[in-house]
Amino acid sequence: MYRPRNPPNPLSSAFLKLPDTLLLVFDRQGRLAMISDAWVEALGYDLGELKQYCFFDLLYENDRSACRQKLAAMNAEAPTLRFSSRCCRKEGGYLGVVWNLTFDSDLELFYAAAHQTAVHLSPDEPQLPEMFVDGLTGLPNRSLFLDRLEHTFRRAERRKDIQFAVLHCGIDRFKVINHSLGHRMGDLLLMCVANLIRNTIRPTDMVARLAGDEFGILLEDIRDVSSTLQVVSRILQKLQLPFMLHEHEVFSTISFGIVASGAEYLVPDAMLRDANLAMLGAKQQGGGAYQVFNRGMHDQAVRRMELEMDLRHALEHGEFQAYYQPIVKLADGTLAGFEALVRWNHPNKGLISPVEFIPVSEESGLIVALGRWMLGEACRQLRHWQNTLPNAAALTVSVNLSGKQMQHPGLLDDVREALATSGLSPHSLKLEITESAMMQDTEKAALLLEQLQAMGIRILLDDFGTGYSSLAYLHRLPIDTLKVDRSFVRHLHENPTDRHFVETIVHLAQRLEQDVICEGVELAEQAAILAAMGVGYTQGFLYSRPVAANEAQILILTGFETND
Ligand code: C2E
Ligand code: MG
Ligand code: MG
Repeated sequence: MYRPRNPPNPLSSAFLKLPDTLLLVFDRQGRLAMISDAWVEALGYDLGELKQYCFFDLLYENDRSACRQKLAAMNAEAPTLRFSSRCCRKEGGYLGVVWNLTFDSDLELFYAAAHQTAVHLSPDEPQLPEMFVDGLTGLPNRSLFLDRLEHTFRRAERRKDIQFAVLHCGIDRFKVINHSLGHRMGDLLLMCVANLIRNTIRPTDMVARLAGDEFGILLEDIRDVSSTLQVVSRILQKLQLPFMLHEHEVFSTISFGIVASGAEYLVPDAMLRDANLAMLGAKQQGGGAYQVFNRGMHDQAVRRMELEMDLRHALEHGEFQAYYQPIVKLADGTLAGFEALVRWNHPNKGLISPVEFIPVSEESGLIVALGRWMLGEACRQLRHWQNTLPNAAALTVSVNLSGKQMQHPGLLDDVREALATSGLSPHSLKLEITESAMMQDTEKAALLLEQLQAMGIRILLDDFGTGYSSLAYLHRLPIDTLKVDRSFVRHLHENPTDRHFVETIVHLAQRLEQDVICEGVELAEQAAILAAMGVGYTQGFLYSRPVAANEAQILILTGFETND
């Protein structure tokens, strides 16, 4: 029988409980600061007993000194470690565990996520084959998953009655969490999710980490697709509780793509590919949901590829066109400038909206070239108007920048080039960015925006109010103007909540000395409310839809009547 040797733990008042994950936090002496319920269950002790122990007490005696040595070598330069060991159960016997340790040198704490191995570890044979295990989560990796899937395929060939399913799971908005809370928290979240899934499926099923924030689940011997839905709903149910990642409470959701075995699948790769497509579909629906793969999705993927090829062709053949939508100064109804919005003038299909092709352009990277073209075109057009029209000197043009463009190292050069070639003053140019565009690397984005601002270009935060943790950026990023998303403007005249929201933003912007533009103004009633609130600028169908350059020119010359 295994007995603790250490005195009561002085950190025990700080105990936090995490459901379903084998997680521990302890200090250099091994004193536990946090332990999850899952450990209580896995080792068979009650929480009160475990609180008395130190980390090393949990290990099988023969594994302890090796473990102490490994931990002693961890420091700021070597903050992570993965190894396997045995833990002792209260009832006797061992538990094979793969540990993933991260050392926080600021707090002098070890974060240990553990994966209970299915492999039985005898005291003589403690090590797991490492090439099949994912280093962070301790789960099987992609190779092992495909290997097992292959095996399942072969079994199903022999026994026609066997049905199985592959689930491709992706953590929604993982990048956002990773970048806002830091990579260590991102890693912890991955470990928590890995453990949650593992503890939800049957021991005979398999979960593997396929890549990044993606997991694969193989459910064997299922009756039909509905049994997979039960697994999905159990996981989603558990995710309704937040994960406690150190002091952060993080809610997370997962999107699932589901594929059931069938005659059309001859190789594991095809099944995994389709599960992935279905998962992307679930993500597009907003996440936290599942999609069962159907043939239509495959066709859709093919259509997407064709669209990508068409887009490349369009760029080479000058099929894109810049449209301009007026931005109006509310106080006196005068024209302040335009937002440049791209349109695709397709030879057969006519004008295509950017909502249809911008996402594909972003995914394929084409947006960099397309954005460069828009920047050049918008600068050239405004400079031309300023040169030729009497009342265009003070007009500005706003150009949308996508996240991909901001990550591209050539952006500053592209902007300089567009200004130099057109002769437009940087003070006439504004760039619209979204919060999501800055999520990839906020520090780098902030630096880039500062450089643009230093050139005299003004920065607008587009679609404000729809992003993630918007307020965190406002004081950190060099933003000149908040552009309130049209979803808050649409019901402004009939919904007091939306009105309060906009009012709050106006106050906030005033405090931060930023301008406010409200987009999507369609009714004179909305414009009047916004004017009374002190909103500086508006944009919307009330004044004009986005129009081609020749029509915009008429608006500059003649002013415009509102459509109300
Ligand atoms: P956005 O930058 O927020 O642009 C405003 C969108 O709202 C435009 O849609 C505009 O036509 C629409 N809009 C303006 N006023 C009203 C209104 O009163 N009511 C309604 N219902 N809609 C209004 P559009 O032109 O379809 O562009 C959609 C999005 O596509 C843009 O949203 C922007 O995110 C993206 N986009 C457009 N052009 C470009 C571009 O050149 N580069 C990049 N990266 N993105 C672009
Ligand atoms: Mg915009
Ligand atoms: Mg917008």
